Amino acid sequence: MSDIVQIGDDVLRKKAQPVPRGEITAEKFQDIIKRMKEALATQPDGVALAAPQIGEPWRIFVVSHKMFMDYDEIDPDNPPLDRDRVFINPEIVNTSKKKLSMDEGCLSVRWKYGQVERHKQATVRAYDEKGEEFQLGGSGLLAQIFQHETDHLDGILFVDKAENLRDINPENSNH
Ligand code: ZN
Repeated sequence: MSDIVQIGDDVLRKKAQPVPRGEITAEKFQDIIKRMKEALATQPDGVALAAPQIGEPWRIFVVSHKMFMDYDEIDPDNPPLDRDRVFINPEIVNTSKKKLSMDEGCLSVRWKYGQVERHKQATVRAYDEKGEEFQLGGSGLLAQIFQHETDHLDGILFVDKAENLRDINPENSNH
């Protein structure tokens, strides 16, 4: 099990490296992806995770199955990690002009929350874990995730951009 790295660790501030296209299916990267999914699944409030957050400075992020399934389809004792979506060497190729001020937190900045301006819509182009290129558009929370996670790959944390930062007592959350 990989622990989730917390703010203050240098790996969160590095620009992550692209995964060589021909090595996506190599054991090294498949293992990193597996560890990312497992680490994300340990976080009841987590919806996405970037590779630097488990100490791996590569351009990969994973979005939880929670974002793509109905709540009642999910067995919490056996989370369907095959339904997590993997984004390798992601690039935001399109964004809406319209921005929203959204409430945001981060699994690497416990337990702070703040408001961040994000494009209302965003489209990402990436490779999946089989090395196939795809493009996916999202709005609202999914668009916010795309922007938050690609920031991670450039060493940017939401607290760099947030306003009205505040601490939320973990005892009041799902934990
Ligand atoms: Zn984060």
